Amino acid sequence: MPGYLTLETLAQAVDAGEIDTVIVAAVDMQGRLMGKRFHAAHFVSHGWQETHCCNYLLTTDMEMNTVPGYASASWEQGYGDYIMRPDLATLRRAPWLEGTALVLCDLLDHAHTEVPQSPRAILKRQIARAHEMGFEAMMATELEFYIFQNSYESLRGDFAEGAGPRNLVPLAASNEDYAIFQTSREEPVMRALRNGLHGAGIPVENTKGEADVGQVEVNVRYAEALTTADNHAIIKTAAKDIAQAQGQSVTFMAKYATDKAGSSSHVHQSLWTHDGLPAFRDPSDPLGMSQIMKWFLAGQLAHARELTLFLAPFVNSYKRFCVGLFAPTKAVWSPDNRTAGFRVCGENTAAVRVECRIGGADLNPYLACAVLLAAGLDGIAQKRPLEPAMTGDMYAAETAREIPKTLREAVALAEGASWLRAALGDAVVDHYVHAARWEISETDRVVTDWDLRRGLERV
Ligand code: ADP
Repeated sequence: MPGYLTLETLAQAVDAGEIDTVIVAAVDMQGRLMGKRFHAAHFVSHGWQETHCCNYLLTTDMEMNTVPGYASASWEQGYGDYIMRPDLATLRRAPWLEGTALVLCDLLDHAHTEVPQSPRAILKRQIARAHEMGFEAMMATELEFYIFQNSYESLRGDFAEGAGPRNLVPLAASNEDYAIFQTSREEPVMRALRNGLHGAGIPVENTKGEADVGQVEVNVRYAEALTTADNHAIIKTAAKDIAQAQGQSVTFMAKYATDKAGSSSHVHQSLWTHDGLPAFRDPSDPLGMSQIMKWFLAGQLAHARELTLFLAPFVNSYKRFCVGLFAPTKAVWSPDNRTAGFRVCGENTAAVRVECRIGGADLNPYLACAVLLAAGLDGIAQKRPLEPAMTGDMYAAETAREIPKTLREAVALAEGASWLRAALGDAVVDHYVHAARWEISETDRVVTDWDLRRGLERV
């Protein structure tokens, strides 16, 4: 794949004057890239070995508040350092930024042990479990988002003056699902995104318009789960960088306005053998699903309610789960059915796979892939029987298994899930439960525009 660099090819690009900056970044709890920009000459001579960051990076909230109550880092413990160790397999050009390369890091403690709460470490642990069980996990995370004509800078001013989402102006004029003409207007951002990602070694399949005004989707070819999560984190940064450079903005919020469709991140998943054969494929089955795939899907269904916290991590995420807007409300499975939380795609082909449709565009891809994999592997380990497929309109299936309706419900389910604790470890589960409880308490105390509009005169 073009775009990937080794230390040697980076050194050559530096000598040739093509690259002068290397972004050295780890991934935080929200799935964002956090780190430093190195002068490329220093990165090539020394920086590639390791650098440091404050260990609060795995305890801060969206707005970088220092949140009390974490076991891993606190004022009491003095907020020391983590080691950021570049994973040189992720070193690549970042062509959407002038003269820039990018590398992702693992986070280590002073003993050079990976920090268990690090999203990358969490996913690596589940990939290793899959490997021990004889499988390689292949995943793809589709990613939807909105593009607006407004710059981030102008929006900050608007919001400071109390303006709401009506100030966000899309480029398209109507629902742009699959629409070529409407999406032509977004090409200054989307073409630059496709080409920028391709130039960074991320195999973009396509972009398309989505089912509301201003909503788009980017699809990248499936890959080994860690690569997919890395790609996802880089895509979000690239889309923001590119939109910002054009004086526009994008948002990955799960639901940015009450009357607009939410943005999803569907996760496509399949297991392959170490020899590269599709372990989900059995030509003798009516849908081409192997016993391994059935156990895997059964595990995800059984644990769906308890893993939703990691597919919908914010209070806002739950506003996306509404009837009739293509976001699921029921954690059931169905062949090629977009109303189900779990859709089986690629029936009777080598690409037969599970598409989990529960996650929003605001998910942390490392955590989402990790918990889905953990649940599927648990299903295989337990040889869990697969419940019958459902058909028809799942929104109308009143008795079907519900996706949790609030973050409060999801966090209580995750907290009590013994399979999740066994897979991720208590320290990791407690850490992310604490993060979610903080989100809830922060939201609980906020008076919204809606409260005011509704109550001011009428209460
Ligand atoms: P859709 O009908 O949902 O648009 P696509 O054919 O575009 O489906 O595929 C969606 C995603 O699924 C793509 O990112 C693709 O790379 C991925 N995908 C295809 N085959 C597999 C597989 N065997 N395992 C995991 N993901 C896969």
